[in-house]
Amino acid sequence: MTPAIAVHNLHRSFGPLKAVNGVSFEIMPGSVVGFVGANGAGKTTTMRILATLDYPTIGTAAVMGHSVVQYPAEVRRVLGWVPDSFGTYENMTVLEYLDFYARALGFKGKERVQRIRDVMEFTDLGPLHDRLINKMSKGQGQRLCLGRALIHDPQVLIMDEPAAGLDPKARVELKRLIRILAEEGKTILISSHILSELGEMCDTLLFIDKGQIVHHGTAQSLQRTDTGITLVDVQVAGDPAKLLQWALLAAHVKILEERKSGARISIDSGDPEIISGVLRRMIHEGLPVVEFHQEQQNLEDAFIDMLGRIESGEVKPIVTSTRPPAGLSVLETAGVSPYVPPPLPLGTQAPESASPPPPPTPVDPKRWGG
Ligand code: ATP
Repeated sequence: MTPAIAVHNLHRSFGPLKAVNGVSFEIMPGSVVGFVGANGAGKTTTMRILATLDYPTIGTAAVMGHSVVQYPAEVRRVLGWVPDSFGTYENMTVLEYLDFYARALGFKGKERVQRIRDVMEFTDLGPLHDRLINKMSKGQGQRLCLGRALIHDPQVLIMDEPAAGLDPKARVELKRLIRILAEEGKTILISSHILSELGEMCDTLLFIDKGQIVHHGTAQSLQRTDTGITLVDVQVAGDPAKLLQWALLAAHVKILEERKSGARISIDSGDPEIISGVLRRMIHEGLPVVEFHQEQQNLEDAFIDMLGRIESGEVKPIVTSTRPPAGLSVLETAGVSPYVPPPLPLGTQAPESASPPPPPTPVDPKRWGG
């Protein structure tokens, strides 16, 4: 089966900075994949290349089998792009905006009316059809951005931080829409810093650090159970300082996080005898314990743990130098400043060529106004 998204040995440099440094991954049709990494890790750069808004310095990327460099128009036909910042003409209404994009995408007559109706119904924008875009809330704007990305019913959706700045209700609503799109069989690549939400929504998570993929797997596969560490949340009556003082002297115990009425501690063992010994001592030595329970390593902890293991050399980033899949040629533009295509609306025609087009010829100012 052809992957919906195939990225192979992708590099993108900005001068000396390697924003993307040998990224390879495949996403099969119908999967929902979370793209995770710290600020500046290379998520947006990778996604912009997939959305045909930038070129790789070296490497290949394909969406539904179409190379983003050689066949950008085909890619735009099958791809919906939800960027992190929603630039738009502010004095347009919701309906005018969607109509503009539907026309730009080539929809005509009844079909255009139907497509606009469908996305307004899906994103619940009907009641806002005559609202000026600059009078919309952040959440309404995000729904419009999603609606615009869905007008041509793409098979693949790439969403860059769609939940950023949304209130909890709008985030729940966005999650619901993403779930429906996933059930319809769309392939979704979504970046976010809210790891717990991605863990719930996604089949797998793709972790990137300093331009390199460090892990691709399920949320559970990242949450190690073999660490030999047990995490316990302890709640005490009164001042939690007593617990902190006790932990400083107690064998096997480290404070991970102080909490309002207690702390999250780690016990450096998975052995039930040692764990129960620590908990027994806590009570025998006079701590007013109200409650304790074992915690799972959460995704944030797991990610930070993974970065620590990479730093110490225990785990290596996943970098491949093998050949790309058949039919995709490697773009080698080393030493040449990559051409940055203008951000065309999805689905509009872009020049198709085997290599990036040359930079535009400067216009002779003498010819202006003639
Ligand atoms: P965030 O979570 O903050 O959005 P990100 O993982 O999306 O981060 P990118 O936006 O891909 O990160 O940026 C990766 C690196 O490339 C950063 O160091 C950024 O400053 C740099 N970068 C991105 N675009 C450009 C550009 N056009 N020119 C120069 N440097 C750039």
